[in-house]
Amino acid sequence: MNLDLSESELAFQAEARAWLAARVPSEPLPSMDTPEGFRAHQEWEAELAEARWAVVSWPEKYHGRDASLVEWVIFEEEYYRAGAPGRVSQNGIFLLSPTIFENGTEEQQDRWLPSMATGEQIWAQAWSEPEAGSDLASLRSRAERDEERGGWVLNGQKTWSSRASYAHWGFGLFRSDPDSQRHHGLTYFCFPLGADGITVRPIAQLDGEPGFAELFFDDVFVPDSDVLGEPGAGWAVAMSTAGNERGLSLRSPGRFCATADRLVDLWRRQGAPVEHRDAVVDAWLGAEAYRLYTWGTVSRLLDGGQIGYAGSVNKVFWSDLDIAMHETALDLLGPASEVSGAWTDGYLFSLSGPIYAGTNEVQRNVVAERILGLPREARG
Ligand SMILES: Cc1cc2nc3c(=O)[nH]c(=O)nc-3n(C[C@H](O)[C@H](O)[C@H](O)COP(=O)(O)OP(=O)(O)OC[C@H]3O[C@@H](n4cnc5c(N)ncnc54)[C@H](O)[C@@H]3O)c2cc1C
Repeated sequence: MNLDLSESELAFQAEARAWLAARVPSEPLPSMDTPEGFRAHQEWEAELAEARWAVVSWPEKYHGRDASLVEWVIFEEEYYRAGAPGRVSQNGIFLLSPTIFENGTEEQQDRWLPSMATGEQIWAQAWSEPEAGSDLASLRSRAERDEERGGWVLNGQKTWSSRASYAHWGFGLFRSDPDSQRHHGLTYFCFPLGADGITVRPIAQLDGEPGFAELFFDDVFVPDSDVLGEPGAGWAVAMSTAGNERGLSLRSPGRFCATADRLVDLWRRQGAPVEHRDAVVDAWLGAEAYRLYTWGTVSRLLDGGQIGYAGSVNKVFWSDLDIAMHETALDLLGPASEVSGAWTDGYLFSLSGPIYAGTNEVQRNVVAERILGLPREARG
């Protein structure tokens, strides 16, 4: 593919770069897994939306710019290069919104997307259950039909829901046909986390911050208007979200290129120690390889292709790369890493990369079975 940008893409890039240079906070915001950090990140989202940088690829009527996929990747590169804050709205804008665009009614799109874009309403992914993580199809939370009220009654438990302690809405799968098995008979629901019958219990993470939560559903009524896609077809709806999480949108290469650049800077500031040179070069090359691979994915999508199982390769690559880069930084810093907040926090978070968005072991099974055509793992 030709990686030269067109005139209009260069203009888009320059506009994004100038805006970010002027507006990115000079000091990092407090962690979004704390109440004050969550609010500060919401305010930043509002500022982005006001200038129509929050969701560049969305239609203008939902605060977007109708930007192309290429422009979206350019924006992501600029965003991370500028050291801009993490996206507190990421579960909504990156994971759920493609599903709403694909499966939502116009009424749902009009109702949910604008406040998602401005960060006024933050969405939490409520998929995992205590006994259903990698094997999501074994979920037990259930939905019973309530014909009289025109909706469903939810019962059960979800867990590990990022930022659900402070978020406003959740999205998740429930078994709506009690006689169904596995991937059948599931329905995709959206629900306000403040609804009657929902209890949100924060879980402290490794760093002690309580943004994570488990959710308990006790006879929670959800109207038909908050069902995403057809009742019973929830698995297919959910899989379009999972593809986005692993394949392209959640972890754009800009994030890793920015980390690699910071690492190179750190190495230079530490006197360019020769014993760490190879690790630093590997990190930089890894980030660049991921960037180029993403451009390959973009050109495939533009040619009408799909991400498909290659999203699993992607996911394993970026999560391993993130850990390697942070480990190299901590090695470079030596004992000083104890007091280097950014690298230590980044390292702790990088450790979760091989777990969330589908564990790397499971992604490797997908690569082995679906891409390489190796025999299936022994189950049971
Ligand atoms: C930082 C972070 C954020 C998260 N955010 C969310 C969120 O917002 N919403 C949400 O719903 N969930 C979230 N999760 C949960 C995440 O999706 C699950 O942790 C993940 O799916 C794994 O499920 P589990 O923890 O139940 O582990 P299990 O599925 O019990 O797996 C335990 C171990 O067994 C391995 N394993 C399981 N099955 C196989 C297999 N078939 N072959 C080989 N190995 C296997 C796994 O790889 C893992 O090492 C988050 C997790 C983390 C760490």
